[in-house]
Amino acid sequence: MIHQEYDVIVVGGGHAGSEAAAAAANMGSKVLLITMNMQTIAQMSCNPAMGGVAKGQIVRELDALGGYSGIVADKSRVQFRMLNKSKGPAMWSPRSQNDRMLFAQQWRTMLENTPNVDFWQDMGKEVIIENGKAVGVRTGLGLEIRSKSVILTNGTFLNGVIHVGMKQLGGGRMGERASTGLTAQLEDLGFESARMKTGTPPRLDGRSLDYSKMEEQQGDENPEQFSFLPLDLAEQQLSCHIAYTNPDVHNKLREGFSESPMFNGAIEGIGPRYCPSIEDKIDRFAERERHQLFVEPEGWHTHEIYLNGFSTSLPEHIQYEAIRLIPGFENAKLFRPGYAIEYDFFQPTQLYSSLETKLIDNLFFAGQINGTTGYEEAAAQGLMAGVNAHLKVNGKEDFVLKRSEAYIGVLIDDLVNKGTDEPYRMFTSRAEYRITLRQDSTDIRLTPISYEIGLAGEERMKAVQKKQKGIKKVIKVLKKQSIAPEEVNPGLEKLNSSALSQKVKAESLVTRPELNIQFLRNHSTAVDEKLSPFTEKEIEAAEILLKYDGYLQKERDLVEKMEKLEAVKLGKKLNYREIRALSSEAQEKLSDIQPATLGQASRISGVSPADISVLMIQLNEN
Ligand code: FAD
Repeated sequence: MIHQEYDVIVVGGGHAGSEAAAAAANMGSKVLLITMNMQTIAQMSCNPAMGGVAKGQIVRELDALGGYSGIVADKSRVQFRMLNKSKGPAMWSPRSQNDRMLFAQQWRTMLENTPNVDFWQDMGKEVIIENGKAVGVRTGLGLEIRSKSVILTNGTFLNGVIHVGMKQLGGGRMGERASTGLTAQLEDLGFESARMKTGTPPRLDGRSLDYSKMEEQQGDENPEQFSFLPLDLAEQQLSCHIAYTNPDVHNKLREGFSESPMFNGAIEGIGPRYCPSIEDKIDRFAERERHQLFVEPEGWHTHEIYLNGFSTSLPEHIQYEAIRLIPGFENAKLFRPGYAIEYDFFQPTQLYSSLETKLIDNLFFAGQINGTTGYEEAAAQGLMAGVNAHLKVNGKEDFVLKRSEAYIGVLIDDLVNKGTDEPYRMFTSRAEYRITLRQDSTDIRLTPISYEIGLAGEERMKAVQKKQKGIKKVIKVLKKQSIAPEEVNPGLEKLNSSALSQKVKAESLVTRPELNIQFLRNHSTAVDEKLSPFTEKEIEAAEILLKYDGYLQKERDLVEKMEKLEAVKLGKKLNYREIRALSSEAQEKLSDIQPATLGQASRISGVSPADISVLMIQLNEN
């Protein structure tokens, strides 16, 4: 036998599969990662970037939990920016531009250096099921590999079809074959699948572009990093550029519309509304004379350029001719055409919050297979599925993050309760506790709970404890230290902030919207000296806690109210179809989803507050 029996088999080495394998192995499971191509582990299929609004928060959460995505993104970055710094801290979002090849290489190195992970290059063709339980995987080469649990993370590969104009190719990504067999088996078992689609822009030769006609966008001056662990990162960064389309570009693209698989019915899958192709943008926003494009470098050692904003599946000659009409692109050469891809996904309402399927025990789904889009969303589900597969085979309770604890909690809660009818992407607007779920505090929120279940290591835990202590001490200094009018009044006047008539505590000045701790350090030697032992991060966190105390308290009150509903367990106590007072939609949805708690029931679309009252009465009567 080539392979022993494993605790967890992960099928697919994308972002979800890689995090799943790492998490389960780091908790002590013996893991086999079966992937079709060892060269493309954690390949970035589309843009060479991690993070951004809401997604950057997820990368930080993954890192705080002990996942690898943050470290890999940091070590392979060519640029880092903290987006939305001019807005409130709930909106600050870290984003990195990455070296595509280095990103995949870093992932592979980290996975190979993780004890307990074995690799096998092959196609997972079938899940072996005995007595309603996943017990292994049958592969394309005909091997039967046994395990105690299986995690499927097939991404865009399930019966994938690639479209460029009228041309269609079978494939999971350009140049890679599609995964066949699994969808049919899962459908036979009773799973429901459907089709989705996504697209990617053409890649260009950077040497053929005239950057003097574009706006430069540099990285942050003092770049932060995603990971909370200390990393020795290079200071050097690459610039991105901004360019614009124009009516000539739009007219040229329109010439290809009759051959567009998007418009002529060749593509039936549902695409992401918020991430439209360039032909979609021109069609839907016909009045707009230009669309913004980001010209993004693909890495340190390549001239390849990613044209963000120009996702298209129009014929390649139309792509080429249209691009050459963009200022700065007159001599552009194409490395690769843009394309669209259609693939199978499974409605995530078929999963428990642990990401285990409701139909087959010990079978988990994570990533794009669940109807999501994006590396971060995939990686987040992968980590959670890896953790839960490990816990399940060890007879332990599920690990489920609450909506008030993490964007990852919001993501999975939305997926399993609401399902999705288009590729699901995380937005800050999906989270009701945005100030609590800030990117700066993810380590404090998540590392201790991850440490408790055996994922986050000692080093992370110690760093969090140190940071927490530091923040408390900074707050103490500001609450104790008095500031005299003569120290700050000249500075306050300059900022149109009301002058002091008597001494006040430093804390009361920090809470003024126009002031910050740096202002106090600039004007009070005592404050400056007392804060000098603390790190920038500790001081920043203390400032946020003082400034937003009122908002945070409001969110805590809301969470408390919701937790009362969460405490009411439903389990399989109720036969919803027999509760006449429920609306028929609620009867159907509750029977399908089988919520674990009243709180979860309240978040299912189609279950109204009136239905929740009916359930409460019913529970009291039982
Ligand atoms: P993938 O990254 O797709 O990885 C799946 C892995 O599983 C691959 O390594 C594959 O080889 C392996 N595999 C599949 N089936 C099997 C099998 N049966 N046996 C063994 N191995 C298997 N996201 C965005 O956020 N914005 C975008 O604009 C965007 N555009 C995209 C455009 C294209 C053309 C593509 C392909 C993807 C795009 N994405 C976009 C999506 C993004 O790439 C995915 O969300 C993310 O990569 C999903 O991660 P995953 O781990 O679920 O799957």
